[in-house]
Amino acid sequence: MSVSTTHRCRSCGFEAPPDADAWGNVQHPPLGELTQCPECGSTDTTTI
Ligand SMILES: [Zn+2]
Repeated sequence: MSVSTTHRCRSCGFEAPPDADAWGNVQHPPLGELTQCPECGSTDTTTI
């Protein structure tokens, strides 16, 4: 069973696996930890 998931930045279109080192993390007190795009710094990301 193989699961193929990609995490994509909705702002600039950067894509990488969710567990890739490329992604950053930022603490967002009300929401917890968010994934941050290394290209544009946006936290508006989605798993496709
Ligand atoms: Zn981006």
